[in-house]
Amino acid sequence: MIYPSAWSLRGLCITAPKPEDVDLFVRFVRERLAADGINTLVLLTRYRYAFETHPECRANDPLSKSDVAAIKAACDENGIELIPKMNLLGHQSGKTKASFDGLLKGFPQFDETPDDEEVEYCRSLCPSDPECLKVVLDLVGEMADAFGAKTFHIGCDEVFEIAKCPRCRDKSTAELFGGWVRAIHDFLASKGIRTMMWGDRLLDGTATGYGRWEASQNGTEAAIADLPKDILICDWHYENMAAYPSVEVFAEAGFDTVLCPWRYKDNAVKFIEYAKAHDGGSIRGVMETTWCDPAALIKVLLEIPDEKEYSSDNYKFVAETYRTLFM
Ligand SMILES: [Zn+2]
Repeated sequence: MIYPSAWSLRGLCITAPKPEDVDLFVRFVRERLAADGINTLVLLTRYRYAFETHPECRANDPLSKSDVAAIKAACDENGIELIPKMNLLGHQSGKTKASFDGLLKGFPQFDETPDDEEVEYCRSLCPSDPECLKVVLDLVGEMADAFGAKTFHIGCDEVFEIAKCPRCRDKSTAELFGGWVRAIHDFLASKGIRTMMWGDRLLDGTATGYGRWEASQNGTEAAIADLPKDILICDWHYENMAAYPSVEVFAEAGFDTVLCPWRYKDNAVKFIEYAKAHDGGSIRGVMETTWCDPAALIKVLLEIPDEKEYSSDNYKFVAETYRTLFM
């Protein structure tokens, strides 16, 4: 696909490999991503890192410092910026207390909905608890150091459990969301690191027509006015829409953005064509999201025979979209 010359960012957002697949992942960087001119790799690491500051927060299959160093070396050799990604407000564990992993496994007291055995989608952290922020910044700082990060993706998408706990319930969702993002941004900025985040909570789901997943319907969108403008917004949209008005919303608010399509090729192309036609100069490029088993996707793209059955076929669609966007 031909992109405007100002769209220099060619990115992939992919789940961190299991430790036993790090060699395969390194081969993928060298043989596929480098060949296709990918220059930005966001690694969905979440709590799958062997944290030493808070080892109780390690999720299953954590990457070691040397695993990260191997991936980082392959990226450096090929001019690819490796960006660690955590998810730092929503997307904490699953719906129930029994699902607690990562930060909530180590510190269940940071749960925003302590009285609810089950929530609609995923648990959230409490953005008003200073102890919670302190631990988050310890983990972010440690991961940023391990990755030698110049940019850090803080997630913050799809936050539904907000303004629920006794500390938060009298505050507005926009104040809570904005204050939390600013605190992490300011910490990263003090280390010379740029913040990257998903854009959905900053969009009005009703006005834009995106609804409550790709945009917000609980008031967080008002936070857009007070966020630092050096945050790089990942504007993700996966559906077939008549228009993608977030392109204009983020441009008017003064943010640089990266377009983030997903699995279905036709929807990805439609989103990108809309953005090309409506770009006022703030779009930095395209980063495909994957949301699939990374080993399955890598084997397809490297044409490695694979007999394994996967629970979802998404990786096949993601591979087709990758070929359309980057090969
Ligand atoms: Zn709270």
